[in-house]
Amino acid sequence: MTLRLRIGAATHMGLVRDANEDAYHVDEPVGLVVVADGMGGHRGGEVASATALDALRMALADGKDLSAAIVDANRAVFEKASGDAALAGMGTTLTAGTLVEDTFVIGHVGDSRAYLARDGELVRVTADHSLVAELVRAGELTEEEAETDPRRSMITRALGVDPDVEVDVYPVELHPRDRLLVCSDGLTVMLGEDQIATLLAEEPDPQAAAARLVAAANDAGGADNVTVVVADVVDDADSDTGDDSTSPDSPGPGVEPVRRRWWSRRRDTA
Ligand code: MG
Repeated sequence: MTLRLRIGAATHMGLVRDANEDAYHVDEPVGLVVVADGMGGHRGGEVASATALDALRMALADGKDLSAAIVDANRAVFEKASGDAALAGMGTTLTAGTLVEDTFVIGHVGDSRAYLARDGELVRVTADHSLVAELVRAGELTEEEAETDPRRSMITRALGVDPDVEVDVYPVELHPRDRLLVCSDGLTVMLGEDQIATLLAEEPDPQAAAARLVAAANDAGGADNVTVVVADVVDDADSDTGDDSTSPDSPGPGVEPVRRRWWSRRRDTA
């Protein structure tokens, strides 16, 4: 069994904010997915999320494991924030996953989230580093109360705030036909998990699913920047017998350049 990911991604600044401080990076051949949600005055949020992504990619390219790469990304954002008064106090969440054989290793800091959809069920993999999540874990708020609590965007752990950061790591053993979702809180604040699960189940194409989730968050009010990455787990051994919508001849609606690059690489190496 050789697993790989088919990835779709979409981001939008939403209907209220005037800039998009979220950022994402996906790499199908490597099996890499990253979502970062920056914060900070002026352009700080955008700089923080972009800086974290760049540093993470460089560290991974140098052969570091995901957790060490996130520590590097933290240091890069921290140093940039320390060296420029206009960027002081900026920070970013970062939730990243990388395919290591048949395991999706997730590294996580902040309140972006990773979910696993398997056999019709959507399971949240990551635990938010947020004030309301801590209050839920302490039994002081219910999940329902947390969803509408005015403090729900206050995060308790981020990249760039301190010289060191604690990274939560979740290894998820994958099965063919699993679907992974990595998203910023602009999705989960606007949509309930049942709505997200329904939409993911309805739309077989990962790019179309990502675009539809972003559109649904905006339809619900678009109060925040929203970023969605949907990654389908494909077993190369049975890809010929799979659903037509996953075949290279009919890649489905909304094909993004990233997937064309993947297919052309596949042809190059065939
Ligand atoms: Mg956000």
